[in-house]
Amino acid sequence: MNRRNFVRNMTASASGVLLGAGLLQDAAAQPKYRGDREERMRTIMRYRKLDAHVHLGLSNDPPELNVDFAERLGIDRMYLSKPVTRGPGAPEDFRACNDVILAAMKKYPGRLGGMLTLNPQHPKESLEEIKRCLGEGMTGIKVYYQIKINDPLFYPIIEKSIEHKLIILMHAEASLGIGGYRMKYDQKIKPNTSRPEDFIEAAKRYPEAMLQYAHTGGGPDWEYSCKALAPYPNVYVDVSGSNNENNMVEFAVATLGVERVLFGSDNMYYQSVGKIIDARLTEEQKKKIFFDNYNNILKKGGHHVS
Ligand SMILES: [Zn+2]
Repeated sequence: MNRRNFVRNMTASASGVLLGAGLLQDAAAQPKYRGDREERMRTIMRYRKLDAHVHLGLSNDPPELNVDFAERLGIDRMYLSKPVTRGPGAPEDFRACNDVILAAMKKYPGRLGGMLTLNPQHPKESLEEIKRCLGEGMTGIKVYYQIKINDPLFYPIIEKSIEHKLIILMHAEASLGIGGYRMKYDQKIKPNTSRPEDFIEAAKRYPEAMLQYAHTGGGPDWEYSCKALAPYPNVYVDVSGSNNENNMVEFAVATLGVERVLFGSDNMYYQSVGKIIDARLTEEQKKKIFFDNYNNILKKGGHHVS
C-alpha cells in the first residue's frame, strides 16, 4: 500500500462505520460509500441490537449521549455500567457508581439497562449491592481490575451470579500472548487485570457461570484469547473496542462458535457496529451477534427484550 492510499484509508477508517474491517484490503476493492450513506444506514438499521458492554459516567458525559448513539445506530437497549476507575473501590464508591446507572435507567426505561459494579474485597457489601441493584432492575455484573476473576474472593460473587443467572462482564487483557510475547508499549495494565488463563480457571471451577471476556477490539491479543477460551463454553467474548483489525469478528465466530460472540461497543459505537456489519458472515450470524445471543443470556434470568 503506498503512502497516499494508506493515508486515505486511515482517514476513511476514522469514521469506523464506513470502513469497518477494510484496512488491509486493497483500497480499490472497497465499496464506494460516497453518496451511498443512506443505503449504508438502512443496512445498519435493519439489525436489532443489544449493547452488551457500554459505560456511562466514565467521563462527564450525560446519558443523553448514550441515547443519542442508540437512536442513530438502531441499538434497542444499552446495558450500561460504571466501574470504579480510581482508587481501590470502597463500598461507598461502588454504590455511588451504581446510583449513576440506576438514575439513567429510571430516566430512559426500555432504552437503558444496567449492570452493577462491586469490589469482592468487600464481600458483605458486594453481596448486599447485588441484592439492591437486582431489585432495581439491573441484569448483570461488571467488574474491573481490582481483583482477578479466579481469585477466591470472587467465589461468592460468582456463586451469586449463578443463583440469579447473571452474566459477569470482566475487563480483560492478553498482552502476554503466544510464546510469551509482550506488547512493547507500556499500557499501564494493572497487575490484577484478568487474563484468558484467569477466565479459564474460573470457568472450569464454575461451569454454570456465564463469563464475558471484555473487548476483543480493546487491544488484547484477540487471536490468542479466542483460541485459549474456545474449550470453555461458558465464556463469551464481546467484540467491542476501537480496534477494527480485519478478520477479528470472523475469527471469534470460527473459533468460539457464533453463539458465544456478542456485540458491545465499549462506547466505540461506530467502530463496533461497523466491524460486525462488514464482517464476512451471514445475515443470520450477524443477527445473532447483534441481538439474539445476548437476549438468550438475559432470558435465563428472565430479563430478555421482547
Ligand atoms: Zn469497558
